Amino acid sequence: MCGIAGACGVDDASYVISLMLKAMQHRGQEAAGIVSYDGSSFHELRGKGLVDEVFADVDYAKALPGRTAIGHIRYSTAGDPDSRESIQPLVAQLRQGPTAIVHNGNLTNYAERRSELEEAGAIFRSKSDTELFLHLIARARGNRRERLSAAFDQVEGAYSLLLMTPRGITAAVDPLGFRPLSMLRFGAGWLFASETCAFDLFRDDPRFAGAVSAPVDRGRVISIDDYCATAFTREAAAPSRHCSFEHIYFSRPDSTVFGRSANAVRERLGRALAAAGPADADLVTAVPDSSNAMAAAYADALGLPFRFALIRNHYTGRTFITPRQTARELGVRMKLGAVRDAVAGKRIVVVDDSLVRGTTARKVVALLRDAGATEVHLRIGSPPVIHPCHWGIDTPSRRELAAADGGIENLRLSIGADSLGYLPLESLREALDDADGSAYCVTCFSGESPLVPLGRRPA
Ligand code: AMP
Repeated sequence: MCGIAGACGVDDASYVISLMLKAMQHRGQEAAGIVSYDGSSFHELRGKGLVDEVFADVDYAKALPGRTAIGHIRYSTAGDPDSRESIQPLVAQLRQGPTAIVHNGNLTNYAERRSELEEAGAIFRSKSDTELFLHLIARARGNRRERLSAAFDQVEGAYSLLLMTPRGITAAVDPLGFRPLSMLRFGAGWLFASETCAFDLFRDDPRFAGAVSAPVDRGRVISIDDYCATAFTREAAAPSRHCSFEHIYFSRPDSTVFGRSANAVRERLGRALAAAGPADADLVTAVPDSSNAMAAAYADALGLPFRFALIRNHYTGRTFITPRQTARELGVRMKLGAVRDAVAGKRIVVVDDSLVRGTTARKVVALLRDAGATEVHLRIGSPPVIHPCHWGIDTPSRRELAAADGGIENLRLSIGADSLGYLPLESLREALDDADGSAYCVTCFSGESPLVPLGRRPA
């Protein structure tokens, strides 16, 4: 999971990108980068850390000038988390001129395509699957549309991406639409972002007046050159496969994701969880912040009081977003504290949006007991995660998934909760208005792989 942003035909484009990346910092905290174009050259700045750290004291007008820029915040799910070469945007000098790319998602046929290209003499600079696009575009022939189609037809998996060239920015989303990407007309220019919360920053800007954001639909390739947009659609042969985890966990509640409010979906999930797994308790609390809306809706539905019994330290970052388990363990302790006053002597339902490795659940139950809770009932607002994700969520091996083997009762015992309840898969589908399973990817919960179409033809 990562966040991408683009600005084309916009004054101080790189500064605008830095603000948008900050608004989406929850999508990745390992590294950040921006590349701008000022009409004659590309300017690049990237590094490890948060946006504020990488761009501390940067004079945007000097270091990253221009009216076109793209940026990226990274949470590595593929490639080497320690390698600087993988920090995006990646830039290459192609025959057609310089090209920069930012990409959110994972390609599933990367290893195969890379070894074919290497056998043919290609030299890769990084271990990032994103670099594949640059090689494939460089090799393709014909006009832009033909070259992009030829390159995209050779990759499988999840990609929402932005390409920047001296001509402008091209945005593209894979035919199954795994990851979100939205666009907004901004004065005479355009903005692109993984999440719409990045656009809301500019609501008071007169250039925003009347602007309405729109999703970049799956299979769509949109190019902005000299303030003109042209687009084509590559045919999507299968139902869409929007990532259900975007709604459950990733996205900010104030974003519109795949055309629906992330907050509204989380409230529906909370109500469905109450119907599926009610509990007799004195109060309901959330594992902040991602499950706040779910927990409040759960409490509402059961007529139980909602209290903030766990407090999050906002200065430590999202714990899960550290690729190593030891850092993750310490991270949970750094991140959450229990409010003894709210907890002591109480029977508590604690709602979390998901349970992956079980690290957070174990710590939260222990924290609440330590603070004097007499009972701790854990409710999870999504189904058991039983399958790794190959499209960009950090759940790489089945071995690490707490609910994959051994049954729910064993998991409850290992977590130390008095009861453990999950949201049934059908309830998740209903909350997403996807009862027939034709719109969302639920592979991590169902184990069934989405169909990846090959042989798409441009429409
Ligand atoms: P875990 O502690 O490994 O069971 O992960 C579950 C916790 O991390 C929950 O509190 C979620 O809010 C959060 N979470 C779930 N999935 C992810 C993810 N892919 N990236 C970051 N955090 C996650």
